[in-house]
Amino acid sequence: MKIEILLNNDCNNLRYIKHIEHLNERGADIRLVSFAGIMHHKFCVIDKHLCMFGSFNWTQNANIRNIEDLNICDEVSFVNNYLLEFKALWNLSKTDIQLLLHPSYCSICKNPIINILFMEVEGNYQTKIDIVQQCGCQQKIVYTDYYDASVYNEYVGSIHQFEDDIWAAKESGDETTYYQLIAQQDFVVANYLSLVRNNRMGMPIIHAVGVKEWKWFNKHDGEFIYKVIWKERGTNSYVQDEYEIM
Ligand SMILES: [Zn+2]
Repeated sequence: MKIEILLNNDCNNLRYIKHIEHLNERGADIRLVSFAGIMHHKFCVIDKHLCMFGSFNWTQNANIRNIEDLNICDEVSFVNNYLLEFKALWNLSKTDIQLLLHPSYCSICKNPIINILFMEVEGNYQTKIDIVQQCGCQQKIVYTDYYDASVYNEYVGSIHQFEDDIWAAKESGDETTYYQLIAQQDFVVANYLSLVRNNRMGMPIIHAVGVKEWKWFNKHDGEFIYKVIWKERGTNSYVQDEYEIM
Protein backbone atom coordinates (compact mmCIF):
# COMPACT_ATOMS: atom_id res chain seq x y z
CA MET A 1 0.00 0.00 0.00
CA LYS A 2 1.33 3.41 -0.98
CA ILE A 3 0.18 6.55 0.81
CA GLU A 4 0.85 9.98 -0.68
CA ILE A 5 -0.47 13.09 1.06
CA LEU A 6 -0.02 16.75 0.20
CA LEU A 7 -0.50 19.12 3.12
CA ASN A 8 -0.33 22.86 3.28
CA ASN A 9 2.76 23.90 5.20
CA ASP A 10 1.02 25.93 7.87
CA CYS A 11 0.86 25.99 11.65
CA ASN A 12 -2.27 23.77 11.71
CA ASN A 13 -0.48 20.94 9.97
CA LEU A 14 2.94 21.55 11.53
CA ARG A 15 1.40 20.69 14.90
CA TYR A 16 1.35 17.10 13.65
CA ILE A 17 4.93 17.04 12.38
CA LYS A 18 5.88 14.22 14.79
CA HIS A 19 3.07 12.01 13.44
CA ILE A 20 3.99 12.95 9.87
CA GLU A 21 7.64 12.03 10.40
CA HIS A 22 6.62 8.83 12.13
CA LEU A 23 4.48 7.77 9.14
CA ASN A 24 7.12 8.85 6.60
CA GLU A 25 9.71 6.71 8.36
CA ARG A 26 7.37 3.77 7.85
CA GLY A 27 6.95 4.25 4.11
CA ALA A 28 4.31 6.94 3.70
CA ASP A 29 5.14 9.96 1.54
CA ILE A 30 3.58 12.98 3.25
CA ARG A 31 4.73 16.35 1.97
CA LEU A 32 4.26 19.74 3.56
CA VAL A 33 4.18 22.28 0.77
CA SER A 34 4.02 26.06 0.99
CA PHE A 35 1.07 26.78 -1.23
CA ALA A 36 0.98 30.34 0.12
CA GLY A 37 -2.75 30.69 0.49
CA ILE A 38 -3.85 29.19 -2.83
CA MET A 39 -4.50 25.63 -1.66
CA HIS A 40 -8.21 25.08 -1.05
CA HIS A 41 -8.60 21.42 -2.00
CA LYS A 42 -9.69 18.76 0.44
CA PHE A 43 -10.01 15.53 -1.45
CA CYS A 44 -8.82 11.97 -1.21
CA VAL A 45 -8.49 9.27 -3.88
CA ILE A 46 -8.39 5.65 -2.79
CA ASP A 47 -6.90 2.90 -4.99
CA LYS A 48 -7.53 5.00 -8.13
CA HIS A 49 -11.24 4.19 -8.13
CA LEU A 50 -12.86 6.01 -5.24
CA CYS A 51 -12.89 9.71 -4.55
CA MET A 52 -13.90 11.57 -1.39
CA PHE A 53 -14.48 15.30 -1.60
CA GLY A 54 -16.50 18.12 -0.07
CA SER A 55 -16.11 20.85 2.51
CA PHE A 56 -14.64 18.40 5.03
CA ASN A 57 -11.15 19.56 6.01
CA TRP A 58 -9.84 16.26 7.45
CA THR A 59 -9.43 17.82 10.90
CA GLN A 60 -10.77 16.96 14.31
CA ASN A 61 -12.95 20.08 14.19
CA ALA A 62 -14.48 18.98 10.90
CA ASN A 63 -15.04 15.58 12.43
CA ILE A 64 -16.79 16.50 15.67
CA ARG A 65 -17.82 20.16 15.53
CA ASN A 66 -18.44 21.73 12.14
CA ILE A 67 -21.32 21.42 9.72
CA GLU A 68 -19.66 19.68 6.77
CA ASP A 69 -20.31 17.56 3.74
CA LEU A 70 -18.20 14.67 2.49
CA ASN A 71 -19.14 12.98 -0.77
CA ILE A 72 -17.98 9.62 -2.06
CA CYS A 73 -17.91 8.88 -5.77
CA ASP A 74 -16.74 5.93 -7.88
CA GLU A 75 -17.65 7.28 -11.33
CA VAL A 76 -14.58 6.55 -13.45
CA SER A 77 -14.07 9.83 -15.32
CA PHE A 78 -14.86 11.83 -12.18
CA VAL A 79 -12.32 9.95 -10.06
CA ASN A 80 -9.80 10.20 -12.87
CA ASN A 81 -10.02 13.99 -12.88
CA TYR A 82 -9.17 14.11 -9.20
CA LEU A 83 -6.33 11.70 -9.78
CA LEU A 84 -4.93 13.92 -12.52
CA GLU A 85 -5.26 16.95 -10.29
CA PHE A 86 -3.39 15.16 -7.54
CA LYS A 87 -0.60 14.14 -9.91
CA ALA A 88 -0.30 17.67 -11.24
CA LEU A 89 -0.04 19.09 -7.71
CA TRP A 90 2.32 16.33 -6.64
CA ASN A 91 4.66 17.15 -9.50
CA LEU A 92 4.49 20.81 -8.59
CA SER A 93 4.92 20.15 -4.94
CA LYS A 94 8.62 20.53 -4.33
CA THR A 95 10.32 23.75 -5.33
CA ASP A 96 8.06 24.53 -8.25
CA ILE A 97 5.27 26.06 -6.20
CA GLN A 98 7.70 28.59 -4.73
CA LEU A 99 9.06 29.46 -8.15
CA LEU A 100 5.58 29.86 -9.54
CA LEU A 101 4.34 32.06 -6.77
CA HIS A 102 7.50 34.09 -6.45
CA PRO A 103 9.02 34.63 -9.87
CA SER A 104 12.18 36.66 -10.27
CA TYR A 105 11.72 40.30 -11.16
CA CYS A 106 13.56 42.12 -13.91
CA SER A 107 15.93 44.69 -12.45
CA ILE A 108 15.25 47.10 -15.34
CA CYS A 109 11.49 47.06 -15.94
CA LYS A 110 10.51 45.55 -12.53
CA ASN A 111 8.09 43.12 -14.18
CA PRO A 112 8.07 39.43 -13.24
CA ILE A 113 10.21 37.22 -15.45
CA ILE A 114 7.91 34.65 -17.03
CA ASN A 115 8.93 31.42 -18.76
CA ILE A 116 6.57 30.41 -21.53
CA LEU A 117 6.82 27.13 -23.37
CA PHE A 118 6.14 27.44 -27.09
CA MET A 119 5.55 24.38 -29.17
CA GLU A 120 5.55 24.07 -32.91
CA VAL A 121 5.84 21.32 -35.47
CA GLU A 122 9.07 21.32 -37.40
CA GLY A 123 9.07 19.24 -40.57
CA ASN A 124 7.10 16.01 -40.44
CA TYR A 125 8.69 14.31 -37.51
CA GLN A 126 9.63 16.79 -34.85
CA THR A 127 8.12 18.96 -32.20
CA LYS A 128 10.26 21.98 -31.48
CA ILE A 129 9.99 23.40 -27.99
CA ASP A 130 11.30 26.83 -27.15
CA ILE A 131 11.15 28.26 -23.70
CA VAL A 132 11.01 32.00 -23.95
CA GLN A 133 11.88 34.09 -20.95
CA GLN A 134 10.03 37.35 -20.95
CA CYS A 135 9.57 40.46 -18.82
CA GLY A 136 8.34 43.88 -19.86
CA CYS A 137 11.51 44.88 -21.68
CA GLN A 138 13.23 41.73 -22.89
CA GLN A 139 12.51 38.43 -24.56
CA LYS A 140 14.98 35.62 -25.08
CA ILE A 141 14.97 31.91 -25.79
CA VAL A 142 16.58 30.16 -22.83
CA TYR A 143 15.97 26.55 -23.79
CA THR A 144 15.32 24.71 -27.03
CA ASP A 145 14.64 21.03 -27.46
CA TYR A 146 13.24 18.62 -30.00
CA TYR A 147 10.74 15.91 -29.34
CA ASP A 148 8.85 13.40 -31.39
CA ALA A 149 6.05 14.91 -33.52
CA SER A 150 3.52 13.16 -31.26
CA VAL A 151 4.32 15.59 -28.43
CA TYR A 152 2.77 18.50 -30.30
CA ASN A 153 -0.08 16.47 -31.75
CA GLU A 154 -1.09 14.90 -28.46
CA TYR A 155 -0.83 18.16 -26.61
CA VAL A 156 -2.87 20.12 -29.11
CA GLY A 157 -5.27 17.18 -29.32
CA SER A 158 -5.72 17.16 -25.56
CA ILE A 159 -6.69 20.82 -25.66
CA HIS A 160 -8.96 20.53 -28.67
CA GLN A 161 -10.79 17.38 -27.58
CA PHE A 162 -12.89 19.43 -25.18
CA GLU A 163 -13.45 22.47 -27.35
CA ASP A 164 -16.62 21.38 -29.13
CA ASP A 165 -18.23 20.25 -25.89
CA ILE A 166 -17.15 23.42 -24.09
CA TRP A 167 -18.60 25.53 -26.88
CA ALA A 168 -21.85 23.54 -26.83
CA ALA A 169 -22.17 23.87 -23.05
CA LYS A 170 -21.54 27.60 -23.27
CA GLU A 171 -24.15 28.03 -26.02
CA SER A 172 -26.77 26.08 -24.08
CA GLY A 173 -26.12 28.07 -20.90
CA ASP A 174 -25.33 24.91 -18.93
CA GLU A 175 -22.88 26.49 -16.50
CA THR A 176 -22.22 23.38 -14.43
CA THR A 177 -21.18 21.31 -17.44
CA TYR A 178 -19.23 24.26 -18.84
CA TYR A 179 -17.08 24.65 -15.73
CA GLN A 180 -16.67 20.88 -15.38
CA LEU A 181 -15.34 20.67 -18.93
CA ILE A 182 -13.00 23.62 -18.42
CA ALA A 183 -11.67 21.90 -15.29
CA GLN A 184 -11.28 18.59 -17.13
CA GLN A 185 -9.40 20.26 -19.94
CA ASP A 186 -7.10 21.91 -17.44
CA PHE A 187 -6.45 18.62 -15.64
CA VAL A 188 -5.50 16.87 -18.85
CA VAL A 189 -3.26 19.69 -20.05
CA ALA A 190 -1.58 20.05 -16.67
CA ASN A 191 -0.91 16.35 -16.50
CA TYR A 192 0.46 16.24 -20.01
CA LEU A 193 2.71 19.20 -19.36
CA SER A 194 4.03 17.57 -16.19
CA LEU A 195 5.11 14.60 -18.28
CA VAL A 196 6.96 16.80 -20.75
CA ARG A 197 8.55 18.80 -17.98
CA ASN A 198 9.59 15.87 -15.84
CA ASN A 199 11.10 13.96 -18.71
CA ARG A 200 13.84 16.48 -19.28
CA MET A 201 16.34 17.90 -16.88
CA GLY A 202 17.45 21.48 -17.09
CA MET A 203 14.15 22.89 -18.24
CA PRO A 204 13.20 25.97 -16.24
CA ILE A 205 9.90 26.25 -14.41
CA ILE A 206 7.11 26.85 -16.91
CA HIS A 207 4.51 29.48 -16.09
CA ALA A 208 2.47 29.14 -19.25
CA VAL A 209 2.17 27.42 -22.62
CA GLY A 210 1.70 29.35 -25.81
CA VAL A 211 1.38 28.96 -29.53
CA LYS A 212 2.39 31.29 -32.32
CA GLU A 213 -0.73 32.64 -33.97
CA TRP A 214 -1.70 35.14 -36.63
CA LYS A 215 -3.76 38.01 -35.27
CA TRP A 216 -5.75 40.33 -37.53
CA PHE A 217 -5.88 44.00 -36.58
CA ASN A 218 -8.32 44.73 -39.38
CA LYS A 219 -9.28 43.30 -42.79
CA HIS A 220 -5.87 43.85 -44.32
CA ASP A 221 -3.34 43.94 -41.60
CA GLY A 222 -2.10 41.63 -38.88
CA GLU A 223 0.93 40.12 -37.21
CA PHE A 224 2.13 36.99 -35.47
CA ILE A 225 1.70 36.97 -31.71
CA TYR A 226 2.25 34.45 -28.96
CA LYS A 227 -1.12 33.36 -27.68
CA VAL A 228 -1.11 31.82 -24.22
CA ILE A 229 -3.37 28.77 -24.20
CA TRP A 230 -2.67 27.51 -20.70
CA LYS A 231 -1.36 28.98 -17.43
CA GLU A 232 0.13 27.08 -14.50
CA ARG A 233 -1.71 27.18 -11.19
CA GLY A 234 -1.22 30.35 -9.20
CA THR A 235 0.27 32.35 -12.06
CA ASN A 236 -2.89 33.93 -13.40
CA SER A 237 -2.24 37.39 -12.01
CA TYR A 238 1.01 37.97 -13.82
CA VAL A 239 0.83 35.94 -17.03
CA GLN A 240 -0.73 37.89 -19.90
CA ASP A 241 -3.03 36.30 -22.49
CA GLU A 242 -0.87 37.44 -25.38
CA TYR A 243 2.74 38.38 -25.88
CA GLU A 244 4.35 40.27 -28.70
CA ILE A 245 6.96 38.61 -30.81
CA MET A 246 9.84 41.05 -30.67
ZN1 LIG B 1 12.51 43.82 -18.05
